[in-house]
Amino acid sequence: MTGIRSYNRRVLVTGGAGFLGSHLCERLIARGDEVICLDNYFTGSRQNIAHLIGHPNFETIRHDVTFPLYIEVDQIYNLACPASPVHYQHDPVQTTKTSVHGAINMLGLAKRLNARILQASTSEVYGDPSVHPQPEEYWGNVNPIGPRSCYDEGKRCAETLFFDYHRQHALPIKVMRIFNTYGPRMHPNDGRVVSNFIMQALKGEPITIYGEGLQTRSFCYVDDLIEGMMRLMDSPPEVTGPINIGNPGEFTMLELAEMVVALTGSQSVIEHRPLPQDDPKQRRPDIAKAKAILDWQPTIPLRDGLERTIHYFRSRFCA
Ligand code: NAD
Ligand code: UDP
Ligand code: UDP
Repeated sequence: MTGIRSYNRRVLVTGGAGFLGSHLCERLIARGDEVICLDNYFTGSRQNIAHLIGHPNFETIRHDVTFPLYIEVDQIYNLACPASPVHYQHDPVQTTKTSVHGAINMLGLAKRLNARILQASTSEVYGDPSVHPQPEEYWGNVNPIGPRSCYDEGKRCAETLFFDYHRQHALPIKVMRIFNTYGPRMHPNDGRVVSNFIMQALKGEPITIYGEGLQTRSFCYVDDLIEGMMRLMDSPPEVTGPINIGNPGEFTMLELAEMVVALTGSQSVIEHRPLPQDDPKQRRPDIAKAKAILDWQPTIPLRDGLERTIHYFRSRFCA
C-alpha cells in the first residue's frame, strides 16, 4: 500500500551509517522494524550499510542533525556524533553543535510526534573519574575547556536537554551511557586503541602505547552493546536512565596490546608514546542497574570479541 502508513514500527537511527548505527539498523530490520537511517557521512560510510540497501524496510537520508528534520517516526535512536578523539577533535565546534543542536532538533521531532527517543551518551560524561567503577549517580570529573570538552560537555548538555524535555514536556526518553565498544566496522584509522593495535599488529608495525600503558579501559563487544541499547529502548516508560552499558572486564593497555599480538600471531614490538592531555586513567562501568532493570549483561569475552574483530580487519583491510 504505497504511501499509506504501514503497520510496522518506523524507527529513525541518526548516525545510522556509523559503526554502532549500522549494527543497530541491521538488528532492527531483522526483527521487522522499518528503519530510516540518517547520516551526514562525516565518519560513517555507505559501505557500512551496503548490505541493507535495497531491503524493503530500509531507507537512508543524507542529513546533518544540526538542522531541523520533519518526518514521521515512532522511535528515534540518536547516535549521530563522531566518537573517537581524532574525529571529534577535527572540528570541535561542529562536534558540540552535533550534540547540542542535534539533540534539540531530535527532541523537537520526538515532542511533535510523542515518539520515544534514546540518546547515545557516553562514559566520557564521567571525565577522568575519581570514583571507580562508575555508577550512574556519579557526577563526573570533566574539564570544561580542554581538547576533549567539545565531546564530553556536548554529551553532558545533551543529557540535560533530554531530562528537561522529559520534565517539561513529559517526553518518553532513554539515556544510555555507552562505554568503549569495539567490533567489526570500527574505523581502521580512527586512532582508537582497539583499531590501532589490530591494524598495527596485522601490518607488523610497532604497537603504540600511550604513556606507561597502565591506564585501564573496559571493552564491550558491539553485539552485546546493541542488545543493551534495544532493551533500554523497549523498557517500560518510567525507565529513563541514565544507564551504563558496557563490559565491566577491565584491562590495562599493555594487557590489551599483549592479547592482540598473541591473537594475530604478530611480530610487532611495543613502542611507548606520550600520553594525550586529559586521558582518563581508569574506566569501568558499574552495570548493576542494567542487570537489575534490563536483565542485561555482556556475554562476549574480550578474547572472543577481539578474534571476530581481527577477522574483520584482516579480511577487509589486509586481504
Ligand atoms: P561513528 O563515528 O562510527 O558513528 C557516528 C555517525 O554519526 C557517523 O556515521 C557519522 O557520519 C554520523 N554523524 C556525525 N555527525 C553528524 C551530524 N552532524 N549529522 C548526521 N550524522 C552525523 O561512531 P560510533 O562509535 O558508531 O558512535 C555512535 C554513537 O555512540 C555516538 O553518539 C557516540 O558518541 C556514542 N558512543 C560510542 C562509543 C564507542 O565506543 N563506539 C562509546 C560511547 C559513546
Ligand atoms: N524540530 C524538528 N522537527 C520537528 C519539530 C521540531 O527538527 O518535527 C526542531 C526545530 O528546529 C525546533 C527544535 O526541534 O527548533 C526544538 O523544537 P521544540 O518544539 O522543542 O521548540 P521550538 O519549536 O519552540 O523551538
Ligand atoms: N591508546 C594507546 N595507544 C593507541 C591509542 C590509544 O595506548 O594507539 C590509549 C589511550 O591513551 C587511552 C586508551 O588507549 O588511554 C583508550 O583510548 P581510545 O581513544 O580508544 O578511547 P578513550 O580514551 O576515548 O576511552
